[in-house]
Amino acid sequence: MNETASLRARAEIDLAALRANVRVLRARAAGAQLMAVVKSDAYGHGAERCARAALEAGATWLGTATPHEALALRAAGLGGRVMCWLWTPGGPWREAIEADIDVSVSGMWALDEVTAAAAQAGRPARIQLKADTGLGRNGCQPADWAELVGAARTAEQAGTVRITGLWSHFACADEPGHPSITAQLVTFRDMVAYAEKAGVEPEVRHIANSPATLTVPESHFDLVRTGIAMYGISPSPELGTPADFGLRPVMTLAASIALVKRVPAGHGISYGHHYTTSAETTLGLVPLGYADGVPRHASGRGPVLVGGVRRTVAGRVAMDQFVVDLDGDEPAVGSDAVLFGPGDRGEPSAEDWARAADTIAYEIVTRIGGRVPRVYRDDETPEGPSDGS
Ligand SMILES: *Cc1c(COP(=O)(O)O)cnc(C)c1O
Repeated sequence: MNETASLRARAEIDLAALRANVRVLRARAAGAQLMAVVKSDAYGHGAERCARAALEAGATWLGTATPHEALALRAAGLGGRVMCWLWTPGGPWREAIEADIDVSVSGMWALDEVTAAAAQAGRPARIQLKADTGLGRNGCQPADWAELVGAARTAEQAGTVRITGLWSHFACADEPGHPSITAQLVTFRDMVAYAEKAGVEPEVRHIANSPATLTVPESHFDLVRTGIAMYGISPSPELGTPADFGLRPVMTLAASIALVKRVPAGHGISYGHHYTTSAETTLGLVPLGYADGVPRHASGRGPVLVGGVRRTVAGRVAMDQFVVDLDGDEPAVGSDAVLFGPGDRGEPSAEDWARAADTIAYEIVTRIGGRVPRVYRDDETPEGPSDGS
């Protein structure tokens, strides 16, 4: 693509692949609605474009962590239901109510703030009560559920809130057979039953994230909340590869080789000289570094496709650049170094980088920095190489 030829680096975002992934996930959870989780700028893929594509492919809800992320979706003109769940005191409740956003409530402080804001706004807030069924993070403990449900019902009867959802989140859905999965489902059913007996009539009950959507059918209820799988990444290598689930990676991270040069044997490479050339060789300079989200922890280990050959980061990843030993090859300056992508050209995957950096692929894609332009592709039939097309 001509407009990408002059870029230092780019994250190509394949919106057709994202749509196809949404369709695959909807088929997996037939009977449930799908919430496209687009928090943290759609896991680094660009929230607005990805949200739009997900809705086009049949998602009916958009989910974010913070209210500011949810408000940004509305400001960008996105319709559909929008929900956000990570609130702190003083959070923009009134703005969220006025923007028709469903807000999560995990405790009394939040219920107090949202009812006050709804009274001021002169319209009811749509709230979803979150149960801590075992994750031990956000959500209301079973022991405090009666108080929260009771107060929410009182507010509902007074017309200040409408309880649209009852929901929770898994701790170990990425470990099939983990006993906590069943235990959380039992607790969730109990807490839902209690609330319904107290008069709550939720539109949606939901607990499933990507791994549960893929592997725990009895967790689908009315809605599944998919993040990572929608971006074509497996929630965990133990569960299978993206291809095993019919998913295609959406992001390709590539850079334009900035320099190719010949160096003698025994030459130290990058800060600290943690790599030394063993013979006369050629080096390629890749203009991406830890400030762009390339993990410094993958120094000496991260895989890169250069000139059609898999290479490994030689020495330290620096802030803006790293070096690969090209073993005598001399690819053209300006040719592609592909750090990860769907694999069509033999490039590594985000999971490969996660392994190299001793982390999870979620962290690899979400940390790609703002200095890397996102370049959107939207061919309904994705092709192989992006260059030369
Ligand atoms: C991030 C998040 C999700 C999506 O999780 P994935 O594993 O990426 O599908 C779902 N629900 C909540 C509450 C989340 O914070």
